[in-house]
Amino acid sequence: MTHREKPVTRQISLSGPDISEAEIEAVTAVLRTPYLSLGAKLDEFEQTFTDRLGVKHAIATSSGTAALHLLWRAFGLNPGDEVITTPFSFIASANSILFDGGRVVFVDIDPETWQIDVARIETAVTLRTKALLPVDVFGSLPDMDAIWSLAKKHDLRVLEDSCEALGASYKGRPAGTIGEAGTFGFYPNKQITTGEGGMIVTNDDELAFLTRSMRNQGRDPDAGWLQHARLGYNYRICDINCALGIVQMQRLDEILAKRTRVAGWYSERLADEPRVAMMEIPDEVTIAWFVMVVRLSDDYSQADRDDILAKLRRAGIACSNYFTPIHLQPFYQQQHGYKPGDFPITEALSARTVALPFHNHLSEADVDQAVTELRKLL
Ligand SMILES: *Cc1c(COP(=O)(O)O)cnc(C)c1O
Repeated sequence: MTHREKPVTRQISLSGPDISEAEIEAVTAVLRTPYLSLGAKLDEFEQTFTDRLGVKHAIATSSGTAALHLLWRAFGLNPGDEVITTPFSFIASANSILFDGGRVVFVDIDPETWQIDVARIETAVTLRTKALLPVDVFGSLPDMDAIWSLAKKHDLRVLEDSCEALGASYKGRPAGTIGEAGTFGFYPNKQITTGEGGMIVTNDDELAFLTRSMRNQGRDPDAGWLQHARLGYNYRICDINCALGIVQMQRLDEILAKRTRVAGWYSERLADEPRVAMMEIPDEVTIAWFVMVVRLSDDYSQADRDDILAKLRRAGIACSNYFTPIHLQPFYQQQHGYKPGDFPITEALSARTVALPFHNHLSEADVDQAVTELRKLL
């Protein structure tokens, strides 16, 4: 039997970082010093966030998930405390609540904006509700004013998961600064990357102090290396990653502009396509494009969508099904008793999403090809 190579179809990738020579040089420069962790690059990276977002404190971490976990610890979330969030997000949002025994209470989304439906939150509030965790899904934001007025009414804390929304804003206020604290993540598919990494931003001195200490094994700033004032973790980010992040932050406007341009190419080509809808962006929101997720119309089933994804891939167009609802992930169903039908709006959307290639190296021709293939399959 002969092994024949399959003809090579050019692949258009789903996502990818935007790394220039400047990042490569900055990383190399750190490697020529002995300061690979807790050095000057850490402070400098944090300062790019305080400067850019106009917040008092920025605490860099090893990941966005670590940033969320530290904040729940600093909030003092206790076993059995309930936190209200969206089932239409990346799993880390909800998982961070579970780490120390908190209980996740999901509220379904708005069918147009794909963000948590604030009008449904109040019925989910109980005597055990401690906090709200709005997520800035796909670089847009939920109705943060309404979230805050509910929080004030019921004396709830507000933590913002902005891991997908660096550079976005709500009524001119930067995403991540609208909650008592906000979190960012720097995995390579995010707006900026440090390989792995995350950031907490807050104006609250105590949250900043506690998260900084718990990030570094519970040490206090002026105590010795082997002095541990509280239970902590190693959630530090190293200076190599920070050096990468500093340059990415210097290039943030350029990076966001490129993403906006690619999103524009998609929007133009899909505007007159009734079988496909994009997320509605509220007037108060300036989006920071994270992914290009479109929703097929209700004429398509989940099986139709899966078939389209498989055929797109065969045609060289990388694609995905962001997100599977968190409540339908196997261990949420097994351990927390969720089942299909619990959050119908999220489920109807999730069954019909197609994430198309979206990153800074796409050309207009790539976008053309992706949309043309998609239309053929519709
Ligand atoms: C990426 C992401 C996170 C977690 O960030 P990591 O750095 O991957 O740990 C959390 N929440 C949301 C909504 C995300 O998209």
